Amino acid sequence: FNVPVPANEPVKEYRPGSPEREAVKQAIADFRSQKTDIPMYIGGQEVRTSRKLRVAPPHDHQHTLGYFYEGDAKHVHQAIEAALTAKTDWANLPWEQRAAIFLRAAELIAGPYRARINAATMLGQSKNVYQAEIDSACELIDFLRFNVFYAEEIYRQQPNSSPGVWNRLDYRPLEGFVFALTPFNFTAIAGNLPTSAALMGNTVVWKPAYTQVLSAKVIMEVLQEAGLPAGVINLIYVDGPIAGEVVFNHPDFAGIHFTGSTSVFQQIWKTIGENIHKYKSYPRIVGETGGKDFVLVHESADVDEVATGLVRGAFEYQGQKCSAASRAYIPSNLWPAIEARVGQFLSELKMGSTEDFTNFINAVIDERSFKKITAYIEEAKKNSEVTVISGGSYDSSKGYFVEPTILKVNNPQYRTMCEEIFGPVLSVYVYEPEEFAEVVKVVDTTSPYALTGCIFAKDRYVIDFVTRALQNAAGNFYINDKPTGAVVGQQPFGGARASGTNDKAGAALNLLRWVSARTIKETF
Ligand code: GLU
Repeated sequence: FNVPVPANEPVKEYRPGSPEREAVKQAIADFRSQKTDIPMYIGGQEVRTSRKLRVAPPHDHQHTLGYFYEGDAKHVHQAIEAALTAKTDWANLPWEQRAAIFLRAAELIAGPYRARINAATMLGQSKNVYQAEIDSACELIDFLRFNVFYAEEIYRQQPNSSPGVWNRLDYRPLEGFVFALTPFNFTAIAGNLPTSAALMGNTVVWKPAYTQVLSAKVIMEVLQEAGLPAGVINLIYVDGPIAGEVVFNHPDFAGIHFTGSTSVFQQIWKTIGENIHKYKSYPRIVGETGGKDFVLVHESADVDEVATGLVRGAFEYQGQKCSAASRAYIPSNLWPAIEARVGQFLSELKMGSTEDFTNFINAVIDERSFKKITAYIEEAKKNSEVTVISGGSYDSSKGYFVEPTILKVNNPQYRTMCEEIFGPVLSVYVYEPEEFAEVVKVVDTTSPYALTGCIFAKDRYVIDFVTRALQNAAGNFYINDKPTGAVVGQQPFGGARASGTNDKAGAALNLLRWVSARTIKETF
């Protein structure tokens, strides 16, 4: 190999008194005591506008963390121009030189920026320190390092030649610019979508969710310190439809790298289709969208493993992972034991601010999300076919807090078994063991999504049957583990059906979408 062979970044533990805990507490105090200024970054310049919008911690929405500056169509044009201007030099740079910048960025996050990026994620996105560490530190570092490793694999692959003929593949970036549209729920994804396309020689216009701008700013600081040239990644805060209007009408639009909702992605796809004649090339459309991720339990399962999987899978980061366990199918003979165990775990979990490190459950991201989640809970309370097993209360007076909620449904097609809620709500359908084969079909057909899912079973014939029967129901399928927490380099992540184009983040499969290879045949 010509590049360092990566190992996953070790997860720090943040025990009381540890240096990493002190450092992140200090970084939180620093953000708390000042109003962070969050400009756009276009062509290497910081850009401010007269539209200053407030950033607040979701768990303490009256506190102001800082302000970001909202741009308009003009800034989208400027960002595209900056990307196109930077393109030739960036694309012509030997790829190792590009890679070195991202490897340096990984070192900066692993070291001097670790506390700052975790603190930004804890405050801005309401992740507890563990959830921040596995996301904004470890996963982002892993994305940066593993992408370089996979890029080398791609560039190395060359066709056969024959006597008198030399064939080669010239892995060019796409012609034009790439648009990265990133979500609030993973700082790592926000960092990965623009940088993976840039690593392959593309220049990028990056529009993050407004609820992730604090950690987006830290990512930009890191990239600049790592030596990313001006204009390679341009970070803009512009309303989605306004940005889309400019980007999807532009002849140099070459591809979109997206993580977000299914409905937005489908709308974007349609818009791209309508404008297809305007582009120089067919744009690459790469998206990870929603999920309605299942936990299927067989009667041969281990009760403790199931209970841990349910609580962690459904409620870590308040269920705001595309991969979160949100519907479970449990045999009636295991249900009493599982219910008791889950109840015991939940009674031990504290809910509150991320700044108190003993809280496991924190706030959901914003008022809109709080309203959407609690509307589902209220409707379930009124429905005679649904029983609230635990949780069900919520309070937004200080922060957007929703208790981890479990709904037991009599109808496996009830809407909370089919629709993505994106919050701490788990729906459970208890079935009779002899109905197992029937239930497997229900798992496959009740939701349009196919992102993640898992089977808990010890019976190998059952595991084999389910693995085959649900081959299209999840892009990431877990056996005796929760459906969240894919690790870069170990479980390439992505799903099909309404969950996305399944281009597996943090894998060569994804990076291949950002090149447009030229075959060169030379005869002697
Ligand atoms: N990769 C994450 C996981 O495995 C989920 C990413 C997402 O929510 O988009 O939990």
